[in-house]
Amino acid sequence: METAGWWKKVGGRVRCSCCGRTRFWTDLGTFTTDLSSDFDLADGTLTQTVLYCRHDSECRGTSQTLRLIPSAPVVAPGDLCREPNSDAD
Ligand SMILES: [Zn+2]
Repeated sequence: METAGWWKKVGGRVRCSCCGRTRFWTDLGTFTTDLSSDFDLADGTLTQTVLYCRHDSECRGTSQTLRLIPSAPVVAPGDLCREPNSDAD
């Protein structure tokens, strides 16, 4: 029954993005990371919000490096073959 939803509410509780344990909102902190520069976007265009256990220093540390969004640039379907590639085929 596990899903990848990181914002999943479980009976009024929320899952920590770092350790996966479910906690009450009051026990969780949020850490927002600006990933825009990784995608060559203007600052503030792309951000992620990580939930972490407020009282767990390990989770707090993880929240600052955790990537919820893959680092590969998001390419719209159809854009993949936009670049002519003489080596193809
Ligand atoms: Zn945690």
